[in-house]
Amino acid sequence: MKKLNEKISFLQGLGQGMNIADGSPQGKMIIEMLGVLSDIADNLNGLRRDFESFRIYVESIDDDLFDLTENLYRDEDDEDDFVQVNCRNCGEDVYFETIYLNDEDTIEIVCPNCDEVVYVNDGSFDFEPEAISDILDNQKQARQDGSSPNH
Ligand SMILES: [Zn+2]
Repeated sequence: MKKLNEKISFLQGLGQGMNIADGSPQGKMIIEMLGVLSDIADNLNGLRRDFESFRIYVESIDDDLFDLTENLYRDEDDEDDFVQVNCRNCGEDVYFETIYLNDEDTIEIVCPNCDEVVYVNDGSFDFEPEAISDILDNQKQARQDGSSPNH
């Protein structure tokens, strides 16, 4: 962009050297046009500066988004985010992620063993699936209750 400014300055200097502004109307016209060219070059320089800061801003957003998705996938690996449902048709234990429970779209969870629908997140199923960690905790609690005569 500096090169463009230099070229325009060169043309303006050339025009002054030829005294074209003192002569014909065409000469005055050329001086005006060179002035407009100079303004355009200045505007382009401003746009380039704005674009550069915008690019840096977008890169920082991209980095933040990367961190966010990293954390999201790390959370999904957590066993607490799975739900266990027992298939009414064949008795198979079906596991799916809790994110499907509150998904905006209607999602049917299908038994991988017999293709029976085991859960739909539209409220039509009357049971509330529990997170696996809760189920395991309850089982552990039940075993402890059974083995202890004080309870
Ligand atoms: Zn089944």
